[in-house]
Amino acid sequence: MKLQTRYTDISELLAIKDMPSAVAEPQLLLFNDKLADNFAINRDSEFLAKLLSGSTIDNDVAPVALGYSGHQFGHFSPRLGDGRAHLLGAIADKDGTLWDLQLKGAGATVFSRGGDGRCAIGPAVREYIMSEALYALGIATTRFLAVVTTGEMVYRQPPRPGAVVTRLAKSHIRVGSFQYLATQGDIEGLEKLVDYAINCHFPDISSTGEQRYIEFLTAVLDKQIELVISWMRIGFIHGVMNTDNTLISGETIDYGPCAMMNQFDLDTVFSSIDHQGRYAFGNQPNIANWNIARLAESLIPLFADQESAVEKLSPVVNGFAAKFNDAFNTMWQQKLGLAGQQEGDHALVSELLSLMKQHQLDYTNTFNALTESLVRDFAIDSQLKGWVSKWRLRTSSESYSTMRAVNPAVIPRNHNIEMILAEYEQTAQSVSLDEFMKVIKAPYKYEEQFAAWYQPPKEGDCNYQTF
Ligand code: AMP
Ligand code: MG
Ligand code: MG
Repeated sequence: MKLQTRYTDISELLAIKDMPSAVAEPQLLLFNDKLADNFAINRDSEFLAKLLSGSTIDNDVAPVALGYSGHQFGHFSPRLGDGRAHLLGAIADKDGTLWDLQLKGAGATVFSRGGDGRCAIGPAVREYIMSEALYALGIATTRFLAVVTTGEMVYRQPPRPGAVVTRLAKSHIRVGSFQYLATQGDIEGLEKLVDYAINCHFPDISSTGEQRYIEFLTAVLDKQIELVISWMRIGFIHGVMNTDNTLISGETIDYGPCAMMNQFDLDTVFSSIDHQGRYAFGNQPNIANWNIARLAESLIPLFADQESAVEKLSPVVNGFAAKFNDAFNTMWQQKLGLAGQQEGDHALVSELLSLMKQHQLDYTNTFNALTESLVRDFAIDSQLKGWVSKWRLRTSSESYSTMRAVNPAVIPRNHNIEMILAEYEQTAQSVSLDEFMKVIKAPYKYEEQFAAWYQPPKEGDCNYQTF
């Protein structure tokens, strides 16, 4: 495998050399063949198990842990960094695009602050499955190449088998990366990081000077809007939208406490530590906006004059709401197959959402039923009867294809994911994963034979918690 060094030229603070620690008995548990096809990767499973657990290093590139800050639940931690991740290097895909190859769970790093740097099998498999599901749903996301079991226990309550998960991402540049260089006073590094991020993710930006920073901030904001809209379209709750978990590329990262909404309710929260509902389903746009404001702040030192920097950056940050609302309205138009925009559409959407909330209707299944009802006999919840007849008048011959493209028939439901994870935790294998992966890879196709995977949990996930 040919790896390249990355990030070390930007600032010596950003990437710190750090070796993974070998594990007792590395074994390849999951391998993403389809993803691996994009790269020149040796497929020998013994080799892969050693490499992707950090037990051998296959090249001259030194593994690093990345430094970054982060606002966690609104509180600033100036020095977070990769406490349990090692970047082995960057690998080029067949088109020449570089991807970070990063191990999560391969031991403590200089940023571990007392943590063990390890990962349990359940959370490792969860990242792998959820990211694959989101990818299939057409959501921008970091990818996962493999899960390797370690043959060691990790000390959680109760102790669990350990695993290392391999992430592939077009970069690991976070809002927190800019906050880190700004708070450390490394203005030269900060400037280089902006250039590097623009080269990787926004190559169309060609302006110079202060205008360059403004366009960069705008481009990151646009990507975040697109991302949050796509999450809300399918009922995804990220669960921990801290600034260290917000990638400049606009891809989803960190599937730790994420979950899917069943019954439609903007206040839905599953994370056990999100007591205030900061990262609730419906609060995700506000938080994305808040995170963009933190990025804007960290760009201020790049401007000649601080006060005029605020004047120039604020309109971008404050423009979030209008841009978001436009895109959000379009999303609902598409989910309901409404062509063009007409007076009364807004009320039509609001009425549906309040009926769904009032009658605790399942988000995915309601939109799926509306979609399928356009082409065949398909039961729609009787509570929506009056609303449906109004909506029907606004549909056309194109509504079905518009709706089918944006309304999934299947999502990675929490109880299904938990069932698979429990299988792994108990027996280090799963009898359900193959079928689940098959179903979840064609999420916009309704197929009677997979109906069992379409069912919401009996108790509506009311006691469900993520960690
Ligand atoms: P997260 O909430 O997953 O985004 O993680 C927040 C911070 O905690 C990051 O800096 C992680 O690297 C660190 N962290 C999480 N789990 C561990 C662990 N087991 N050992 C060391 N650091 C950890
Ligand atoms: Mg994280
Ligand atoms: Mg996490």
